[in-house]
Amino acid sequence: MKKNIIAGNWKMNNTQKGTKELIAQLAPLVAGKDDCEIVLCVPFTSLNTARKAMRGTNMKLGAQNVHWADKGAFTGEVSAEMLAELKCEYVLVGHSERRQYFNETNDTVNKRVKKALEFKLKPIICIGETLEEREKGKTASVLEKQVTSAFVGIEKSSLKRIVVAYEPVWAIGTGKTATPEDANDTIWIVRKALRKLYGRTSASAMRIQYGGSMNAGNANELMAMAEIDGGLIGGASLKAEDFAKIVESANKVNE
Ligand code: PEP
Repeated sequence: MKKNIIAGNWKMNNTQKGTKELIAQLAPLVAGKDDCEIVLCVPFTSLNTARKAMRGTNMKLGAQNVHWADKGAFTGEVSAEMLAELKCEYVLVGHSERRQYFNETNDTVNKRVKKALEFKLKPIICIGETLEEREKGKTASVLEKQVTSAFVGIEKSSLKRIVVAYEPVWAIGTGKTATPEDANDTIWIVRKALRKLYGRTSASAMRIQYGGSMNAGNANELMAMAEIDGGLIGGASLKAEDFAKIVESANKVNE
């Protein structure tokens, strides 16, 4: 049975001090919740501190982006080798904030995914439609395009190392959550797109998270849906108790 995966996206939050404190608060709250996987995607500057603070816990380290080149004149970017050296296991790719504010495209998402895999990092590929796209009835076509582009040139054998996060852009940081049924139906569209590429068995085995204002209050219902294999959590991942409750929801579904 596949394990649910709960990933916290800290975004641009937490200094070294805040990183140590939050991990110290979280560790006892999520200890023993081993029927799901727990990942913290921290800012680059916190990776080393987080790595040390997480030793001996059941939490795994993630970054929030990775560049597609091996090295060179890419001011402000971080390479896959640099992340691998810090024992980073996961990395977010194509988060909607990267697409919206930093011109991330389906093509650059694909390049980043490939480079991450080359260095044995596990990409969490973020996809999702905007409110405008949803209102114009374009959700399915937007998601299909994002999926097919992100997976260009990716072998079936790599799929077990990849997670997809479906995050409707209109639900991120807005307090508006997709209803569990809606999130489930839309993730089914994503899974069908993966089926077309890799077949039924491989697509069913892939983990697809829901993200967008998931919190301690709505996690139970979302996690109970058949197609939802975890969550990508922004705001609520900054509060230890809230994040731990979400982990609990993901854990008990698989118990
Ligand atoms: C996110 O940043 O991926 C996210 C889902 O944020 P929030 O939970 O705050 O909506």
